[in-house]
Amino acid sequence: MALLLNFFFGKPEDWKQWFAAEMPELDVRFWPETGNREDIDVIACGWLPEGEFKTFPNLKLIVSLLAGPDHLLHDPAVPKHVPIVRAGDPSGDTMMNEVTLLHVLRHHRNMPAYALAQQRAEWVNLPRQPARERKVGVMGLGVIGLAAARMLQSIGFQVAGWVRTPRRIDGMDVFAGRDQLNAFLNRSEILVNLLPLTSETENILNAAAFAQMPKGGAVINLGRGGHVVEAGLVAALDSEHLAAATLDVFRTEPLPKDDPLWKHPKVTVMPHASRRVEGKPMVPRIADAIRRLRDGRPMENLIDRVKGY
Ligand code: NDP
Repeated sequence: MALLLNFFFGKPEDWKQWFAAEMPELDVRFWPETGNREDIDVIACGWLPEGEFKTFPNLKLIVSLLAGPDHLLHDPAVPKHVPIVRAGDPSGDTMMNEVTLLHVLRHHRNMPAYALAQQRAEWVNLPRQPARERKVGVMGLGVIGLAAARMLQSIGFQVAGWVRTPRRIDGMDVFAGRDQLNAFLNRSEILVNLLPLTSETENILNAAAFAQMPKGGAVINLGRGGHVVEAGLVAALDSEHLAAATLDVFRTEPLPKDDPLWKHPKVTVMPHASRRVEGKPMVPRIADAIRRLRDGRPMENLIDRVKGY
């Protein structure tokens, strides 16, 4: 049996060396050099080209190299009976923490407005406040969202989270489910989206949601482009209800050159550049999943197909 790896980061020689050190007996093949497709029982990837998953008759496990499994879950060629596990660090992602802090601080300290004022050579006096007076809301307290929320807390921000299943987290107000979404939005001056894209979360950042946020609020989308209804966002910015937005992810990537978001004065466009996915730390987790498969032990970091994440 063999592992097929379709990596989009790192060099093949590095991956070979990492697997040789971790699991020397493993037959590792690199997409698109699959060899006999009947040999492949595990595929580790972010995605495969359309229809390809169907062509591996003995596939028993998929390892997602991406935190967001939406590509895999939306691919009709992925067999429904094959479990999907995540290879990312279950304790969070330091680069996602960094980028969350970067953008929250940028909005907290009014940097977009200062940049616009500088273009007009205007010496402005904008309100300033310490982090302890700033309410940040993090949508999604999963592997990435919780670590990012904790980091914001450590800087002193008043952090609340929005999740699906109610829970208690020390020092953090946790809002759960649709019933508590408006209460969460009402208090979130800076909103960070770190939700997975599912049928329940698609278009969740829409005109009605922005209207629930305090006037002068800012939105940071680090989740997926499909979370944001762009017309609603632009209307909320143009009416001055929201002050600014930072978007790292888009429905179409790369964002088309003629998309008005590029030139909107209150929108910061980031080219899906939040983090570098690291292959080396994933190798022991991929190897562990393969050993569990071979030994018939339960999988860890399983994606729940019903929930969609
Ligand atoms: P997880 O699957 O670990 O966590 C998802 C979180 O979202 C959980 O807290 C979950 O709630 C919550 N959630 C899911 N559905 C709902 C819902 N319907 N209502 C309320 N809360 C919901 O995901 P990660 O933290 O690992 O990653 C989150 C997302 O971040 C990824 O799916 C991806 O889209 C994005 N991402 C973006 C990157 C970028 O480069 N911009 C890089 C990496 C990730 P509960 O805890 O109750 O289950």
